Amino acid sequence: MRENSGRVLIVTDVQRDFCEGGALAVPRGEEVVRPINRLAQNYDLVVLTQDWHPANHQSFASQHPGRQPFEEMDFPYGLQTLWPDHCVQGSPGADFHPDLSVPHAALIIRKGFRAAVDSYSAFAEADGSVTGLGAYLRDRDVRHVDCVGLATDFCVAWSAEDAARQGFRVRVFQDACRAIDLNGSLEAAWARLSARGVALTQVG
Ligand SMILES: [Zn+2]
Repeated sequence: MRENSGRVLIVTDVQRDFCEGGALAVPRGEEVVRPINRLAQNYDLVVLTQDWHPANHQSFASQHPGRQPFEEMDFPYGLQTLWPDHCVQGSPGADFHPDLSVPHAALIIRKGFRAAVDSYSAFAEADGSVTGLGAYLRDRDVRHVDCVGLATDFCVAWSAEDAARQGFRVRVFQDACRAIDLNGSLEAAWARLSARGVALTQVG
C-alpha cells in the first residue's frame, strides 16, 4: 500500500521527441526518467500527459510559410510560440521514453490533438477548453498535485499554475524536470509559480 492518498503525480510529456535526439529535444530531458520512475512508486494515483498533434497542427512553424520555429505568432486565443514538428500522432517521437516505467498510471491525458489549438496544460487547452482533469481529481478527493516532466517552463509550469488556480496545493520537483529556457522563459515561469504559491522541492 502506497502512502500519498489525496495526492496525484502528474508526469508531463516524457516522450521521445522531447528527449535527446528528438524533434524538440529539451536539454538533458532524458535525465528526468530515472527520478520520475523512482518517485512514482510512492503514488497511488499517477496521471501521464502525452503531447499528441495531428501532422497539420497549427503550432508547427512548418504550417506557416515564412515562419521559423521558436517565433511567436498571433493566434485567436493569444500569442503562440511556433515549434518544430513534434509528437505527431502515432509517430515514434510521440511515444513515451522507452525507459519510463510507470505501469500503474491511471490516466493518460493527450494534449494538442485539435489542429487549431495548442495545449500545454493538463487541465485546459490554450483556448480555455477544459480537459476534465480538475473534476477527475476532485472526484477522487485529491487535494495535492505534484508535477514533474518536460518542459519545466512550458507544459509543467502551465499545469502547475492551472492546478493552483483550481485550488489544489501544488509542488514542482525541480530535479525531475528540465527546461527549454527560451528568452528567459524559465525565470518567468518560476516567478509565476511562486506568485501562485506553488512550492519547489526535490526528489533528492
Ligand atoms: Zn506540442
